[in-house]
Amino acid sequence: MKAVVVGAGIAGLTSARALAEAGNDVLVLEATDRPGGKLRAGEVAGVRVDVGAEAMLHRRPEGTALAAALGLPITHPTAATSRVWTRDALRRLPRTVMGAPLDLDDLAATGILSADGLDRARHQAVPHPDGDVSVGDLVAQRYGDEVVDRLVEPLLGGVYAGQARRISARSAAPQLLDLLARDEVTAPAPPTDALPVFASVDGGMWRLPAALEADLHDRPNAEVRYDTPVTAVRRAPTGFVVTTSTGDEAAGLLVLATPAAPTARLLADLAPGAATELEEIAYASVALVTFAFRGDDPGVADALDTGASGFLVPPVDGRRVKASTFSFAKWDWVRDAGEGLLVLRTSLGRFGEESSLQVPDEGLVRASLADLETATGLTAAPVDAVVQRWGGGLPQYWVGHADRVARIRAAVAEVPGLALCGAAYDGVGIPATIGSAQRAVAGLLT
Ligand SMILES: Cc1cc2nc3c(=O)[nH]c(=O)nc-3n(C[C@H](O)[C@H](O)[C@H](O)COP(=O)(O)OP(=O)(O)OC[C@H]3O[C@@H](n4cnc5c(N)ncnc54)[C@H](O)[C@@H]3O)c2cc1C
Repeated sequence: MKAVVVGAGIAGLTSARALAEAGNDVLVLEATDRPGGKLRAGEVAGVRVDVGAEAMLHRRPEGTALAAALGLPITHPTAATSRVWTRDALRRLPRTVMGAPLDLDDLAATGILSADGLDRARHQAVPHPDGDVSVGDLVAQRYGDEVVDRLVEPLLGGVYAGQARRISARSAAPQLLDLLARDEVTAPAPPTDALPVFASVDGGMWRLPAALEADLHDRPNAEVRYDTPVTAVRRAPTGFVVTTSTGDEAAGLLVLATPAAPTARLLADLAPGAATELEEIAYASVALVTFAFRGDDPGVADALDTGASGFLVPPVDGRRVKASTFSFAKWDWVRDAGEGLLVLRTSLGRFGEESSLQVPDEGLVRASLADLETATGLTAAPVDAVVQRWGGGLPQYWVGHADRVARIRAAVAEVPGLALCGAAYDGVGIPATIGSAQRAVAGLLT
């Protein structure tokens, strides 16, 4: 059967491979000139690094399993750990579940909370939420507002670029809901298995879509076509007609692996109920600035504590950057590739703060350098700086998201041969996105 996949992000490429493996003729149509979507390589001072997603959860198997199946070498972060830049110092990040502290004495030792905030954290009531609530409201009920402001917000800012008081606990932190329901968050953590929490591909996450593309290229029954935005889809007697900028394609099976807004536009006639729901999924825009510094520059030497993999910044502190990753300290392969250059990046932009990104690239570079200097004492001038903007980069899983996704799925189920996958539905992380593509194809093939 002929299958068309719209979008060559990680979800689209994963679904294309599964469809091709099952014997279908697959055509992937991608609007831009490259594979990978938010997994993308860039060059800073000649060093090739990720300028989009840089890591994946290792404890969910889909990402590392796919990388291994494609013959890619898996790597893990070094032992360097993240800091929280708050209350005018870089402070150790305590152990938390999505910002909910696992040990209040440990939290006290970090100095992240004021004495009042700590007192509240020790004496709040145990929440018993009925239905979906926001992660922020849930944690505030149990630990008080300061824990939300100084721990939950920066952590959710890192993953979703979102606001803690809007993001759904059921969709974004189900394990936290479960622990709070049993009032076990402050209990000693269960013995951890030996698995590291995060992984990447040695040489960069961008290698994963590149390897998927190469895999499809080697198959006689698959094609990936770039610079081919899909502008409309409609039903046909034998399936679908997919309209692109260069003509129509017929398809028996159709996978839309695009973000919510383009998916909504494409479904306007085919599944209007799903389209209306998809329009309600908001996206946050972010920008990443990747820097290279000379490692032997005296302005760098003492500033960048290599025991730190970077830092997160609570929005309540009013800084421009929301996080920085010291890539050279976090990943051995980045340090090696740098050959004496230290590569690090800053991240700016949260949902609702789009105007802060509406400045020229130099403005983002300057703001990042100013915050880096205040946070770490780094005074060196970078050898190079590269700005990568991700307009509409991260879907916001607001309260009620899981029910919305169920309604979208119900509407799509009315259209045989159609499936949706990608970051808009069951998790924004790479393994979750890969899993959504695998499930979409499994559904189509049964
Ligand atoms: C800055 C940033 C950092 C991130 N960091 C991490 C991280 O470290 N770890 C992690 O697990 N996750 C991270 N994520 C999240 C993760 O990378 C994404 O959620 C995931 O890659 C999304 O994959 P996708 O295939 O669903 O969508 P996308 O990557 O958005 O791919 C969709 C594709 O569809 C194409 N398209 C859109 N409309 C059309 C059309 N009409 N016709 C044809 N093609 C179209 C787009 O051009 C794009 O290539 C990050 C996200 C961002 C933005």
